[in-house]
Amino acid sequence: MKRIYLSPPHLGADEFELVKDAFASNWIAPLGPHVDAFEQEFAHAIGVPYAAALSSGTAAIHLALQLLGVGRGDAVICPTLTFCASANPITYQGATPIFIDSDPDTWNMDPGLLAEELHDRAKRNRLPKAVICVDLYGQCADYDVMLDICARYEVPLIEDAAEALGATYRGKPAGRFGACSVFSFNGNKIITTSGGGMLVSENARHIERARFLATQARDPAPHYQHSVVGNNYRLSNVLAAIGRGQLRILADRVAARRRLFDRYRAALEDLPGIKFMPQAAYGEPNAWLTCITIDPTEFGATRQNLQHVLDDANIESRPVWKPLHLQPVFAGCACRGGDVASDLFERGLCLPSGSAMTDDEFDRVIGVIRGVHEDANKIMAYKIMNAIGV
Ligand SMILES: *Cc1c(COP(=O)(O)O)cnc(C)c1O
Repeated sequence: MKRIYLSPPHLGADEFELVKDAFASNWIAPLGPHVDAFEQEFAHAIGVPYAAALSSGTAAIHLALQLLGVGRGDAVICPTLTFCASANPITYQGATPIFIDSDPDTWNMDPGLLAEELHDRAKRNRLPKAVICVDLYGQCADYDVMLDICARYEVPLIEDAAEALGATYRGKPAGRFGACSVFSFNGNKIITTSGGGMLVSENARHIERARFLATQARDPAPHYQHSVVGNNYRLSNVLAAIGRGQLRILADRVAARRRLFDRYRAALEDLPGIKFMPQAAYGEPNAWLTCITIDPTEFGATRQNLQHVLDDANIESRPVWKPLHLQPVFAGCACRGGDVASDLFERGLCLPSGSAMTDDEFDRVIGVIRGVHEDANKIMAYKIMNAIGV
Protein backbone atom coordinates (compact mmCIF):
# COMPACT_ATOMS: atom_id res chain seq x y z
CA MET A 1 0.00 0.00 0.00
CA LYS A 2 1.24 3.47 -0.90
CA ARG A 3 2.79 5.44 1.95
CA ILE A 4 0.71 8.31 3.28
CA TYR A 5 3.03 11.20 4.14
CA LEU A 6 2.57 13.79 6.86
CA SER A 7 2.52 16.87 4.63
CA PRO A 8 3.75 16.27 1.09
CA PRO A 9 4.05 18.95 -1.61
CA HIS A 10 0.91 19.59 -3.69
CA LEU A 11 1.58 21.27 -7.01
CA GLY A 12 -0.97 23.28 -8.95
CA ALA A 13 -1.49 23.85 -12.66
CA ASP A 14 0.87 26.79 -13.23
CA GLU A 15 4.18 25.94 -11.56
CA PHE A 16 5.65 23.97 -14.45
CA GLU A 17 4.88 26.68 -17.03
CA LEU A 18 6.44 29.32 -14.78
CA VAL A 19 9.58 27.20 -14.29
CA LYS A 20 9.80 26.64 -18.05
CA ASP A 21 9.69 30.40 -18.48
CA ALA A 22 12.63 30.77 -16.07
CA PHE A 23 14.58 28.26 -18.19
CA ALA A 24 13.54 29.78 -21.51
CA SER A 25 14.64 33.24 -20.38
CA ASN A 26 17.92 31.90 -18.92
CA TRP A 27 17.22 33.46 -15.48
CA ILE A 28 18.69 30.50 -13.55
CA ALA A 29 20.12 32.82 -10.92
CA PRO A 30 19.42 33.92 -7.36
CA LEU A 31 17.79 37.01 -8.83
CA GLY A 32 15.49 37.66 -11.75
CA PRO A 33 11.96 38.57 -12.77
CA HIS A 34 10.27 35.69 -10.91
CA VAL A 35 11.98 36.69 -7.64
CA ASP A 36 10.77 40.28 -8.03
CA ALA A 37 7.24 39.18 -8.98
CA PHE A 38 7.06 36.59 -6.18
CA GLU A 39 8.03 39.24 -3.63
CA GLN A 40 5.41 41.67 -4.92
CA GLU A 41 2.64 39.08 -5.16
CA PHE A 42 3.47 37.70 -1.74
CA ALA A 43 3.54 41.13 -0.08
CA HIS A 44 0.19 41.88 -1.69
CA ALA A 45 -1.31 38.60 -0.43
CA ILE A 46 -0.26 39.35 3.16
CA GLY A 47 -1.05 43.04 2.94
CA VAL A 48 2.46 44.25 3.80
CA PRO A 49 4.39 46.75 1.69
CA TYR A 50 7.79 44.97 1.56
CA ALA A 51 9.03 41.39 1.19
CA ALA A 52 12.38 39.74 0.51
CA ALA A 53 12.49 36.22 -0.97
CA LEU A 54 15.16 34.09 0.72
CA SER A 55 16.66 30.62 0.59
CA SER A 56 14.83 29.40 3.72
CA GLY A 57 12.68 30.40 6.67
CA THR A 58 15.72 29.85 8.89
CA ALA A 59 17.64 32.41 6.81
CA ALA A 60 14.72 34.83 7.22
CA ILE A 61 14.81 34.49 11.02
CA HIS A 62 18.58 34.92 11.00
CA LEU A 63 18.30 38.12 8.95
CA ALA A 64 15.48 39.43 11.19
CA LEU A 65 17.78 39.04 14.20
CA GLN A 66 20.59 40.82 12.37
CA LEU A 67 18.25 43.68 11.42
CA LEU A 68 17.19 44.12 15.04
CA GLY A 69 20.83 44.28 16.13
CA VAL A 70 20.94 40.99 18.05
CA GLY A 71 24.56 40.18 18.84
CA ARG A 72 26.99 38.46 21.16
CA GLY A 73 25.79 38.23 24.76
CA ASP A 74 22.21 39.30 24.01
CA ALA A 75 19.17 37.34 25.15
CA VAL A 76 16.25 36.54 22.81
CA ILE A 77 12.95 35.09 24.02
CA CYS A 78 11.41 32.17 22.09
CA PRO A 79 8.67 29.63 22.86
CA THR A 80 9.98 26.23 23.88
CA LEU A 81 7.33 24.34 21.86
CA THR A 82 8.52 24.94 18.31
CA PHE A 83 10.83 23.63 15.60
CA CYS A 84 14.55 24.11 16.32
CA ALA A 85 14.78 26.59 13.40
CA SER A 86 12.94 29.20 15.49
CA ALA A 87 15.85 29.30 17.94
CA ASN A 88 18.97 28.16 16.04
CA PRO A 89 19.58 31.57 14.42
CA ILE A 90 19.72 33.15 17.90
CA THR A 91 22.86 31.11 18.50
CA TYR A 92 24.29 32.00 15.04
CA GLN A 93 24.40 35.59 16.37
CA GLY A 94 26.19 34.53 19.56
CA ALA A 95 23.06 35.36 21.56
CA THR A 96 21.24 33.13 24.06
CA PRO A 97 17.68 31.82 23.74
CA ILE A 98 15.36 32.11 26.75
CA PHE A 99 12.48 29.66 26.42
CA ILE A 100 8.87 30.18 27.50
CA ASP A 101 6.23 27.48 28.08
CA SER A 102 2.99 27.10 26.08
CA ASP A 103 -0.50 28.31 26.84
CA PRO A 104 -2.60 25.12 27.07
CA ASP A 105 -5.53 26.91 25.35
CA THR A 106 -3.62 27.63 22.10
CA TRP A 107 -0.27 25.76 22.44
CA ASN A 108 1.39 29.09 21.58
CA MET A 109 3.77 31.02 23.87
CA ASP A 110 2.03 31.73 27.20
CA PRO A 111 1.55 35.53 27.40
CA GLY A 112 1.44 35.50 31.22
CA LEU A 113 4.83 33.79 31.42
CA LEU A 114 6.23 36.17 28.78
CA ALA A 115 5.10 39.14 30.89
CA GLU A 116 6.70 37.61 34.02
CA GLU A 117 9.99 37.00 32.20
CA LEU A 118 10.12 40.54 30.82
CA HIS A 119 9.19 42.01 34.21
CA ASP A 120 11.97 40.07 35.99
CA ARG A 121 14.51 40.96 33.33
CA ALA A 122 13.56 44.65 33.35
CA LYS A 123 14.25 44.73 37.09
CA ARG A 124 17.71 43.25 36.50
CA ASN A 125 18.31 45.52 33.52
CA ARG A 126 18.64 42.41 31.35
CA LEU A 127 15.80 42.87 28.86
CA PRO A 128 16.04 40.66 25.76
CA LYS A 129 16.92 42.22 22.44
CA ALA A 130 13.88 40.62 20.74
CA VAL A 131 10.97 38.24 21.25
CA ILE A 132 10.35 35.54 18.63
CA CYS A 133 6.68 34.61 18.63
CA VAL A 134 5.67 31.45 16.73
CA ASP A 135 2.26 30.80 15.12
CA LEU A 136 2.32 27.13 16.03
CA TYR A 137 0.90 24.57 13.59
CA GLY A 138 -0.73 27.42 11.69
CA GLN A 139 -2.57 29.15 14.55
CA CYS A 140 -1.67 32.77 15.28
CA ALA A 141 -0.57 33.83 18.73
CA ASP A 142 -2.83 36.31 20.56
CA TYR A 143 -1.16 39.41 19.09
CA ASP A 144 -3.24 42.12 20.78
CA VAL A 145 -1.90 40.77 24.07
CA MET A 146 1.61 39.81 22.88
CA LEU A 147 2.31 43.15 21.20
CA ASP A 148 0.99 45.11 24.17
CA ILE A 149 3.29 43.22 26.55
CA CYS A 150 6.33 43.69 24.28
CA ALA A 151 5.53 47.40 23.76
CA ARG A 152 5.55 48.02 27.52
CA TYR A 153 9.19 46.96 27.64
CA GLU A 154 10.00 48.33 24.17
CA VAL A 155 11.20 44.93 22.98
CA PRO A 156 10.61 44.24 19.24
CA LEU A 157 8.67 41.15 18.21
CA ILE A 158 9.61 38.84 15.33
CA GLU A 159 6.67 36.80 14.07
CA ASP A 160 7.71 33.27 13.06
CA ALA A 161 4.78 32.54 10.75
CA ALA A 162 6.69 29.72 8.99
CA GLU A 163 3.77 27.34 9.59
CA ALA A 164 0.96 29.89 9.37
CA LEU A 165 0.75 31.22 5.80
CA GLY A 166 -2.95 31.77 5.09
CA ALA A 167 -4.02 31.91 8.76
CA THR A 168 -5.66 35.02 10.19
CA TYR A 169 -5.81 36.83 13.52
CA ARG A 170 -8.87 39.06 14.02
CA GLY A 171 -9.30 39.15 10.25
CA LYS A 172 -5.68 40.10 9.48
CA PRO A 173 -3.29 37.65 7.80
CA ALA A 174 -0.48 35.99 9.75
CA GLY A 175 2.74 37.87 9.06
CA ARG A 176 1.29 41.31 9.80
CA PHE A 177 2.28 41.40 13.45
CA GLY A 178 6.07 41.42 13.75
CA ALA A 179 8.56 44.24 13.27
CA CYS A 180 9.71 41.56 10.83
CA SER A 181 7.74 38.40 10.02
CA VAL A 182 9.01 35.17 8.58
CA PHE A 183 7.57 32.48 6.28
CA SER A 184 8.92 29.14 5.07
CA PHE A 185 8.39 27.31 1.77
CA ASN A 186 10.12 24.13 2.90
CA GLY A 187 8.84 20.90 1.34
CA ASN A 188 6.39 20.08 4.13
CA LYS A 189 4.84 23.55 4.53
CA ILE A 190 1.39 24.54 3.25
CA ILE A 191 2.93 25.76 -0.02
CA THR A 192 6.48 24.97 -1.08
CA THR A 193 9.27 26.04 -3.42
CA SER A 194 11.17 22.84 -2.39
CA GLY A 195 13.13 25.17 -0.11
CA GLY A 196 12.71 28.86 0.48
CA GLY A 197 11.53 31.60 2.79
CA MET A 198 10.23 35.14 2.91
CA LEU A 199 10.91 38.06 5.22
CA VAL A 200 8.20 40.72 5.31
CA SER A 201 7.98 44.06 7.07
CA GLU A 202 6.15 47.39 7.12
CA ASN A 203 9.59 48.99 7.30
CA ALA A 204 11.24 49.62 3.90
CA ARG A 205 14.68 50.02 5.45
CA HIS A 206 14.49 46.57 7.09
CA ILE A 207 13.78 44.84 3.77
CA GLU A 208 16.35 46.89 1.86
CA ARG A 209 18.96 45.99 4.49
CA ALA A 210 17.82 42.32 4.44
CA ARG A 211 18.47 42.16 0.68
CA PHE A 212 21.90 43.71 1.20
CA LEU A 213 22.80 41.28 4.00
CA ALA A 214 21.40 38.34 1.99
CA THR A 215 23.71 39.01 -0.98
CA GLN A 216 27.09 39.02 0.81
CA ALA A 217 26.73 42.66 1.93
CA ARG A 218 28.34 44.16 -1.16
CA ASP A 219 29.03 47.85 -0.79
CA PRO A 220 28.20 50.07 -3.77
CA ALA A 221 31.61 50.10 -5.49
CA PRO A 222 32.93 49.08 -8.94
CA HIS A 223 34.91 46.22 -7.33
CA TYR A 224 33.96 43.71 -4.61
CA GLN A 225 33.96 45.79 -1.44
CA HIS A 226 32.59 44.63 1.94
CA SER A 227 32.31 46.55 5.22
CA VAL A 228 30.22 44.05 7.16
CA VAL A 229 29.87 40.25 7.17
CA GLY A 230 27.06 39.17 4.86
CA ASN A 231 25.17 35.99 4.04
CA ASN A 232 24.28 34.11 0.85
CA TYR A 233 20.54 33.83 1.44
CA ARG A 234 18.70 34.88 -1.75
CA LEU A 235 16.08 32.66 -3.38
CA SER A 236 16.73 31.26 -6.86
CA ASN A 237 14.64 32.62 -9.74
CA VAL A 238 13.68 29.01 -10.61
CA LEU A 239 12.30 28.39 -7.12
CA ALA A 240 10.55 31.77 -7.09
CA ALA A 241 8.72 30.63 -10.25
CA ILE A 242 7.42 27.60 -8.31
CA GLY A 243 6.44 29.90 -5.45
CA ARG A 244 4.37 32.15 -7.73
CA GLY A 245 2.38 29.16 -8.95
CA GLN A 246 1.90 27.86 -5.41
CA LEU A 247 0.78 31.26 -4.14
CA ARG A 248 -2.03 31.33 -6.72
CA ILE A 249 -3.63 28.26 -5.15
CA LEU A 250 -2.91 29.07 -1.50
CA ALA A 251 -6.59 29.68 -0.66
CA ASP A 252 -7.49 26.19 -1.99
CA ARG A 253 -4.73 24.59 0.05
CA VAL A 254 -5.85 26.33 3.25
CA ALA A 255 -9.47 25.32 2.59
CA ALA A 256 -8.41 21.69 2.00
CA ARG A 257 -6.40 21.52 5.25
CA ARG A 258 -9.17 23.11 7.26
CA ARG A 259 -11.68 20.67 5.76
CA LEU A 260 -9.36 17.79 6.67
CA PHE A 261 -9.13 19.04 10.27
CA ASP A 262 -12.95 19.14 10.47
CA ARG A 263 -13.24 15.65 8.99
CA TYR A 264 -10.70 14.23 11.45
CA ARG A 265 -12.65 15.79 14.29
CA ALA A 266 -15.96 14.39 13.07
CA ALA A 267 -14.44 10.93 12.56
CA LEU A 268 -12.55 10.66 15.86
CA GLU A 269 -14.06 12.89 18.49
CA ASP A 270 -16.27 10.14 19.93
CA LEU A 271 -13.13 8.14 20.85
CA PRO A 272 -12.29 8.45 24.56
CA GLY A 273 -8.90 9.97 25.31
CA ILE A 274 -8.47 11.85 22.01
CA LYS A 275 -8.51 15.64 21.96
CA PHE A 276 -7.71 18.07 19.15
CA MET A 277 -5.40 21.06 19.33
CA PRO A 278 -7.68 23.86 20.55
CA GLN A 279 -8.65 26.54 18.01
CA ALA A 280 -8.83 30.02 19.47
CA ALA A 281 -11.90 32.15 18.72
CA TYR A 282 -9.72 35.15 17.74
CA GLY A 283 -8.69 33.82 14.33
CA GLU A 284 -8.79 31.23 11.60
CA PRO A 285 -5.87 28.79 11.62
CA ASN A 286 -4.62 27.39 8.31
CA ALA A 287 -4.71 23.89 9.87
CA TRP A 288 -1.24 23.17 8.49
CA LEU A 289 -1.11 19.97 10.56
CA THR A 290 -3.98 18.32 12.42
CA CYS A 291 -2.66 17.59 15.92
CA ILE A 292 -4.25 15.44 18.59
CA THR A 293 -3.36 14.58 22.17
CA ILE A 294 -3.86 11.10 23.53
CA ASP A 295 -4.71 10.16 27.09
CA PRO A 296 -3.34 6.59 27.14
CA THR A 297 -5.51 5.30 29.99
CA GLU A 298 -8.71 6.41 28.25
CA PHE A 299 -7.66 5.66 24.68
CA GLY A 300 -5.95 2.37 25.52
CA ALA A 301 -2.63 3.14 23.80
CA THR A 302 0.10 5.77 24.03
CA ARG A 303 0.99 8.15 21.23
CA GLN A 304 4.17 6.06 20.76
CA ASN A 305 2.03 2.90 20.27
CA LEU A 306 -0.26 4.69 17.84
CA GLN A 307 2.65 6.15 15.87
CA HIS A 308 4.17 2.64 15.51
CA VAL A 309 0.92 1.03 14.40
CA LEU A 310 0.35 3.83 11.87
CA ASP A 311 3.89 3.37 10.60
CA ASP A 312 3.33 -0.39 10.21
CA ALA A 313 0.33 0.52 8.05
CA ASN A 314 2.65 2.75 5.98
CA ILE A 315 1.20 5.98 7.38
CA GLU A 316 3.54 8.76 8.51
CA SER A 317 2.69 10.64 11.71
CA ARG A 318 4.97 12.68 13.96
CA PRO A 319 5.06 13.58 17.64
CA VAL A 320 4.35 17.22 18.44
CA TRP A 321 7.63 19.22 18.49
CA LYS A 322 9.98 18.11 21.25
CA PRO A 323 10.33 21.24 23.41
CA LEU A 324 13.59 23.08 22.85
CA HIS A 325 14.42 23.23 26.57
CA LEU A 326 14.56 19.40 26.48
CA GLN A 327 16.86 19.32 23.43
CA PRO A 328 20.47 18.37 24.18
CA VAL A 329 21.69 21.24 21.99
CA PHE A 330 19.93 23.79 24.23
CA ALA A 331 20.77 22.15 27.57
CA GLY A 332 21.67 24.90 29.99
CA CYS A 333 19.35 27.51 28.41
CA ALA A 334 16.77 28.98 30.79
CA CYS A 335 13.11 28.09 30.42
CA ARG A 336 10.20 29.70 32.25
CA GLY A 337 7.78 26.87 32.99
CA GLY A 338 7.93 23.98 30.53
CA ASP A 339 5.52 21.35 31.89
CA VAL A 340 2.72 22.23 29.46
CA ALA A 341 5.00 21.85 26.44
CA SER A 342 6.56 18.64 27.82
CA ASP A 343 3.12 17.13 28.31
CA LEU A 344 2.05 18.13 24.78
CA PHE A 345 5.18 16.41 23.47
CA GLU A 346 4.52 13.24 25.52
CA ARG A 347 0.90 12.95 24.38
CA GLY A 348 0.71 14.91 21.12
CA LEU A 349 0.69 13.44 17.61
CA CYS A 350 0.49 15.18 14.21
CA LEU A 351 -1.68 13.25 11.75
CA PRO A 352 -1.21 13.12 7.96
CA SER A 353 -2.48 16.49 6.77
CA GLY A 354 -1.61 16.81 3.09
CA SER A 355 -4.00 18.93 1.04
CA ALA A 356 -4.04 16.24 -1.70
CA MET A 357 -5.09 13.41 0.62
CA THR A 358 -7.77 11.20 -0.99
CA ASP A 359 -10.91 9.86 0.70
CA ASP A 360 -9.44 6.34 0.60
CA GLU A 361 -6.27 7.52 2.31
CA PHE A 362 -8.27 9.38 4.93
CA ASP A 363 -10.35 6.24 5.60
CA ARG A 364 -7.15 4.19 5.98
CA VAL A 365 -5.84 6.58 8.67
CA ILE A 366 -9.16 6.61 10.53
CA GLY A 367 -9.40 2.82 10.30
CA VAL A 368 -6.00 2.34 11.94
CA ILE A 369 -6.67 4.82 14.75
CA ARG A 370 -10.09 3.34 15.55
CA GLY A 371 -8.62 -0.16 15.28
CA VAL A 372 -5.92 0.61 17.88
CA HIS A 373 -8.61 1.74 20.31
CA GLU A 374 -10.83 -1.29 19.64
CA ASP A 375 -7.92 -3.73 20.02
CA ALA A 376 -7.02 -2.06 23.32
CA ASN A 377 -10.60 -2.65 24.50
CA LYS A 378 -10.41 -6.32 23.48
CA ILE A 379 -7.12 -6.81 25.30
CA MET A 380 -8.53 -5.11 28.39
CA ALA A 381 -11.65 -7.31 28.35
CA TYR A 382 -9.49 -10.43 27.88
CA LYS A 383 -7.32 -9.44 30.88
CA ILE A 384 -10.38 -8.82 33.06
CA MET A 385 -11.93 -12.16 32.08
CA ASN A 386 -8.60 -13.89 32.67
CA ALA A 387 -8.29 -12.30 36.11
CA ILE A 388 -11.68 -13.67 37.20
CA GLY A 389 -10.78 -17.07 35.78
CA VAL A 390 -13.28 -17.18 32.90
C1 LIG B 1 9.77 25.22 9.04
C2 LIG B 1 9.96 26.18 10.16
C3 LIG B 1 11.03 27.08 10.19
C4 LIG B 1 12.18 27.04 9.22
O1 LIG B 1 11.90 27.15 7.92
P1 LIG B 1 12.91 26.51 6.82
O2 LIG B 1 12.38 27.07 5.54
O3 LIG B 1 12.76 25.02 6.91
O4 LIG B 1 14.28 26.98 7.14
C5 LIG B 1 11.09 28.00 11.22
N1 LIG B 1 10.17 28.03 12.18
C6 LIG B 1 9.15 27.15 12.22
C7 LIG B 1 8.16 27.26 13.33
C8 LIG B 1 9.02 26.18 11.23
O5 LIG B 1 8.02 25.29 11.29
